[in-house]
Amino acid sequence: MASPKYLTGDKAAINAFIDQFDTFLFDCDGVLWSGDHVFDGVPETISMLRSRGKRTVFVTNNSTKSRDEYVKKLTNLNIPAEVEDVFGSAYSSAVYISRILDLPPNKRKVFVIGEAGVERELASEGVAFVGGTDERLRRDITPADFQGIADGSLLDPEVGVVLCGLDFHINYLKLAYGLHYLRRGAVFLATNTDSTLPMHHDLFLGAGSVMVPLANATGRQPLELGKPSQAMMDAIEGKFHFDRSRTCMVGDRLNTDIKFGVDGKLGGTLHVETGVDKKEDWEKADAIAVPSFYVDQLSDLRHAA
Ligand code: PLP
Ligand code: CA
Repeated sequence: MASPKYLTGDKAAINAFIDQFDTFLFDCDGVLWSGDHVFDGVPETISMLRSRGKRTVFVTNNSTKSRDEYVKKLTNLNIPAEVEDVFGSAYSSAVYISRILDLPPNKRKVFVIGEAGVERELASEGVAFVGGTDERLRRDITPADFQGIADGSLLDPEVGVVLCGLDFHINYLKLAYGLHYLRRGAVFLATNTDSTLPMHHDLFLGAGSVMVPLANATGRQPLELGKPSQAMMDAIEGKFHFDRSRTCMVGDRLNTDIKFGVDGKLGGTLHVETGVDKKEDWEKADAIAVPSFYVDQLSDLRHAA
């Protein structure tokens, strides 16, 4: 395999790199910003790419926010964007459930473990759901809950899907509902399976760690709908109709972003060193995915010839 090409400081190589693609798919956290801090020069870099006629699409695994909220965040950080420019794992999940999953009419409801972003995107696709941010599930489990969940009297008979995203209020009661819908045959989906969540220069539990109790208790693995799932790539392609050979995925994580681009047979993948994984991670012999290009930071692309 050819080793990744380092672009930082090499004007001619940067120019050739930009000319090679029509569409850039950008991971968000770790590439454009960290938390609420936009990296220096990123808005100018996006604007330079657009002025060279490139399409820029923002592809995030963060399911806690809807596309509308991402548009607000991008715009506040001086990266003007519209809903059509954003593709998130909550939206990807909603599209999969509403347009691809073939469920019987009386089993079309979703039990959500997750935050408001998932609920908003399900609603935008007309998908009915229970659970999620429902305050009634934010408490300790009681003997009556055990009884009612086991005998089914507390379960919604129309639930045919359990969708798991990052939930900051995860507890035994929600997991008990999730388990029993799955035991009754519900389809098991995950918005994304990032094991960790980068916050304050450290790592916390990501969506992929929150759903582990359900996978463990059922012996089943969810179908994941965020990066690196090709279900997400197909959904993005269905919407934007890009030429894969002239599309580049830009990201900081090897097992989500770079693998997403490699598995999707995109023309290229660009790794930035401003997020979770570093150069030494893809240099390892057993690296899960290796990028085709890398820069120290995204704004290094501004210095094209
Ligand atoms: N999931 C959650 C809940 C997050 O907050 C984040 C980053 O903010 C991510 C996933 C990873 O997002 P991205 O794919 O943009 O790096
Ligand atoms: Ca990222």
